[in-house]
Amino acid sequence: MFDILELQRKLTAAALPSGFETPQAKLLAELAAPYVDEVHIDALNNVICHKKGKGKKLMFAAHLDPIGFMVNYIDEKGYLSFTAIGGHNPACLINTRVVFASGAVGGIALKPDPDHPNRNSSAIRMTDLYIDIGAKDKKEAERLAPIGSVAKFCTVPQEIGGGNIMGPYADDLIACVAQLLALEELKGEKCENDLYFVFTGQEETGCKGAKVAAEAIRPYFGVACDVTATGDTPADKKVPMAVALGKGPTIKIKDGGAISSPYANEVLRKVAKKAGIKYQDEVLLYGGTDAGAMLLSGVGAYSTCVSIPCRNIHSPVEIVNKNDVLEAARLLAAAARSAL
Ligand SMILES: [Zn+2]
Repeated sequence: MFDILELQRKLTAAALPSGFETPQAKLLAELAAPYVDEVHIDALNNVICHKKGKGKKLMFAAHLDPIGFMVNYIDEKGYLSFTAIGGHNPACLINTRVVFASGAVGGIALKPDPDHPNRNSSAIRMTDLYIDIGAKDKKEAERLAPIGSVAKFCTVPQEIGGGNIMGPYADDLIACVAQLLALEELKGEKCENDLYFVFTGQEETGCKGAKVAAEAIRPYFGVACDVTATGDTPADKKVPMAVALGKGPTIKIKDGGAISSPYANEVLRKVAKKAGIKYQDEVLLYGGTDAGAMLLSGVGAYSTCVSIPCRNIHSPVEIVNKNDVLEAARLLAAAARSAL
């Protein structure tokens, strides 16, 4: 059986940021192949896995691209200026460790500003930061991290207290893990629905992979699997949210990108109850997922999202609960079997 932490570590080690996802796309295609009839990778690094059935088309989508960084300028001393790939909070990046595809490791540092020595963190912008890879000069930096090269957070997922896993890129590699667990659960089963399990590319830069995949598949019913915020930490008092870690996956009702189909949610609630899966109702005040892309595909699809609660999203210390991942996988499998 797939081991959640081991798989999350493997995917995190392989992954490159949005737009450059070929390594993790190949790995996911390999991992999923024994459980489906067909797998192919398209131009956007979508890994499209087809488990054939005679019934309606059901598309699952978990994005395989993490956020990251790209070098846009190298100065004479070999320090790197960079731009964000996907959404980052610049204040959270100070003093974090990053690694390039070349293996070069660096630290993100803050440029001192003598005019504003006490500037508060909300005033810090990406252009106030730089990456130091220790290069002795521009030439060495150009060799290790040329213009256009991409980097990611350099930390390994670990098990911490409470059956939780902490590390970067739970968003959304942990949902890729959940989809693999669902495929494993469905192994050998003949399902009525025509099932597409898609690991989508370029979500963090505008849900581009899911748009293309959904247009190619034209699903009747779509279920994205992504992470969502929680309201269970001291930091969340200002924006309360009725989602907590360890209380099961959520069924999304609305976020900043889409209103989920009430019919799709009715189906999910029914299958969750039947399978004895505890879930939480989710309304997120911002954000968006691949569910929005599937909703608008073809002539429109009944689309929603199953979320895995996650603290500190888009940081190197994202925290998810292992049981929530297992239960999310069970919910995806139960949805795959559902009568539509
Ligand atoms: Zn995500």
